[in-house]
Amino acid sequence: MITKPKGCYDIVDKEAVKFKIMNRVIEYFCEFYNYDYIRTPIFESRDLFHRTVGSDTDIVTKETYDFKDRSDRELTLRPEGTAGVVRSFIENKMYGTGLPKKFYYNGTMYRYERPGNGRNREFTQFGVEILGSNDPMTDAEVISMPYRLFEELGFKDLNVKINNLGAKSDRENYKNALKEYLKPYIDDLCEDCKVRFETNPLRILDCKVDGDSEILKNVPSILDYQSEESEKRFKKVLEYLTYLDVDYEVDDKIVRGLDYYDYTVFEIVSNAEVLGGASTIAAGGRYNDLVEKLGGPSTPCMGFASGLERLSLAMEEMNMQEKRPLDAYILYVNEEEKLKALMLAQDLRVSGVSADYDTTGRSLKSQFKEADRNKARMLILLNSEDLQKGLITVKDNITKEETKIDENEIIDYMVSNI
Ligand code: ATP
Ligand code: MG
Repeated sequence: MITKPKGCYDIVDKEAVKFKIMNRVIEYFCEFYNYDYIRTPIFESRDLFHRTVGSDTDIVTKETYDFKDRSDRELTLRPEGTAGVVRSFIENKMYGTGLPKKFYYNGTMYRYERPGNGRNREFTQFGVEILGSNDPMTDAEVISMPYRLFEELGFKDLNVKINNLGAKSDRENYKNALKEYLKPYIDDLCEDCKVRFETNPLRILDCKVDGDSEILKNVPSILDYQSEESEKRFKKVLEYLTYLDVDYEVDDKIVRGLDYYDYTVFEIVSNAEVLGGASTIAAGGRYNDLVEKLGGPSTPCMGFASGLERLSLAMEEMNMQEKRPLDAYILYVNEEEKLKALMLAQDLRVSGVSADYDTTGRSLKSQFKEADRNKARMLILLNSEDLQKGLITVKDNITKEETKIDENEIIDYMVSNI
């Protein structure tokens, strides 16, 4: 038997229903907030991720799926969505007109990680990117939109953790102070952090091993190393969040696992029990230097990403409807009624009424059972005698009331009664 690759999952049954609901809410929200859908390739040149995510980040050093195609091109399955969007923005010269550009994406990502606990090798992320605005209002929108979206999905007790990484020069000053502080403890750090100490000391704050250690509890705060301009900007972001009624908490240890962030970074944390207490369900930040770094004109940007599998886990706790109820189930016995069922179902569906009928030769009794299994709101009972008089019987499955409707009025009747 051939089985699925390790860390990959089939999304079926209840899980598929949850994904459908999430996808609908995501599309609805993003379109309402005026984001345009963007789809970029699932694989890109390996170089793109080295230059965006960063060569010495966990993602690039340990987690990417790298391969060569038949012409020896070095390619990588995308581990995240921002790099592709930024590449596309530059390649298609979108910076020329109509800034800011507001995009949302929703697709599979690939990371070679140890599977388990909501951590997969193939997983799905949706996210947004706003390219071409440095207004703190943009930061507030990119944080509040997913916050409201998660509320719509049923999440309660959400909390935003937010930090300010400042400009590159602010971070340079901080890195020096951090290294100064960590120097005496270097032998006590994990092997990875010993390397990070030289290559990218900020990353140590994000370490899964050392993150909770006493040493890191007392590190200097990055917030004490911000320029006046950066501090003012951050205050504005927080002020807007307060106006938008977003529950936030400043956390100076948040740095995020990607290299391209500056100024605002944030995580949205859910306290859903099934996630094992506080768990990050979305994360993002500002990346004002990335477009330029990849060869485009200087363009300030801000975005976030959220993993659907983790959202789905938490949705288990919430009262999910397992299957969308059907508006109408059409029941028939003979050939004449069957033809009517076929045509009527099409007319109903085109008019926005979901409808279905039996295609396996079931008895009338089991057709009733099928209707129940599909949670049909209305039953349409076809019989030749009625049809000859131009009538169709409709049974309301909630009130159990039966009504005979003129054949020509059945669509209008269904549309206004579901
Ligand atoms: P973590 O610290 O949990 O490894 P990360 O910093 O790698 O997270 P991001 O790259 O910011 O995470 O991705 C944002 C979101 O994508 C996460 O909050 C999570 O929901 C989801 N995600 C990341 N990696 C995986 C994975 N391997 N499987 C499933 N979901 C994932
Ligand atoms: Mg990770």
